[in-house]
Amino acid sequence: MLLTPGPTAVPEFVRTAMSEETLHHRTPEFEAIFEKTRNLLLELLDMPESVILASSGTGAMEACVTNLTHKKALTINAGKFGQRFGKICEAHHIAYTELTHEWNIPMSVDEVVDIIKNDSDIDAIFIQVCESAGGLRHPVEAIAKAVKDINPSISIIADGITAVGVEKIDTTNIDALITGSQKALMLPPGLSMIGFSDEAVAKIEKKPAGYYFNLLSEIKKQKQNTTAYTAATTLIIGLGAILEKLKTIGFDNLYADTAKRAKATRDALIAIGLEIYPTTPANAMSTIYTEDSNAIRKVLKEKYDLNIAGGQDHLKGKIFRINHMGLVTPYEASWAVNAIEKAMDDLNIRTFDGTANKIFMKGFFG
Ligand SMILES: *Cc1c(COP(=O)(O)O)cnc(C)c1O
Repeated sequence: MLLTPGPTAVPEFVRTAMSEETLHHRTPEFEAIFEKTRNLLLELLDMPESVILASSGTGAMEACVTNLTHKKALTINAGKFGQRFGKICEAHHIAYTELTHEWNIPMSVDEVVDIIKNDSDIDAIFIQVCESAGGLRHPVEAIAKAVKDINPSISIIADGITAVGVEKIDTTNIDALITGSQKALMLPPGLSMIGFSDEAVAKIEKKPAGYYFNLLSEIKKQKQNTTAYTAATTLIIGLGAILEKLKTIGFDNLYADTAKRAKATRDALIAIGLEIYPTTPANAMSTIYTEDSNAIRKVLKEKYDLNIAGGQDHLKGKIFRINHMGLVTPYEASWAVNAIEKAMDDLNIRTFDGTANKIFMKGFFG
């Protein structure tokens, strides 16, 4: 059972949709599929414009850095993905300031406000909605609102790769919202998507950057239901299939289900003595801090057929992360907490008594 917070398991109906013969991308047939998919994506993102790019999520991050920073960036680094925005700035010789936090502590509104009040060069802020390195939720909407109240011309770029499709994100003050295929959208890796505000489009029009990741050329083409370069046709067909399914379920129902599953999981894990790592956990994943992380993950994989993620860098061997993104069933999620409790018994950490499963079932089903 694959329960890593990306890549997530690809549902059978998506795999089937993608097994059709390859379409040529410059055809009315493909353009119709593109149009349907683009409209569903705009609805999911809740933004007026969007692009679908043939790249992993990092490509969309890079495109936003180069096209939306015209003077200086502020990057929020509370984990590997936040750190990546700074590295992208460095690679492109773009001036930037970085605000750093430990991976379990969200950025505060005040810290961001302080920086922008004292540095008038900053014209773009880059932040994760959910920083997947530690599974924390940044208060992106509150930060975006405070920034816009001070200077509405500063662009807010939110990396929602593990948040879009997980929860409703208030995009009122967000200029670019990034997502990717292999997380909550349950597709194979290879697509990234960005939603734009009208202000972001106007800013890109003023000073587009790059060639493949030139967002102005993409926006112009995608408005006409085609792409600047060869479209990732198969993955876009998959994206159309999953978005149709999610719309049928209802986006709000999906968010409510994910939230309930995440909470029941956290409560179950706390009940067996485990410690939730982030102070503000996102619903995309449950992150547990434990020195026994590697031992637990090894038993889970070898004995209980459960694959969950560990940590990176200084959190290697110190955390494990369980995915909640996508159409995870309650029986999969309950198996996960049950197997973790049993693995802890196998490792003589805590005697098994079925508490985790009981708390999960009560929390999820009432
Ligand atoms: C997975 C992820 C990315 C993108 O990584 P890619 O490997 O380039 O797809 C970016 N940000 C966050 C928060 C992520 O979880």
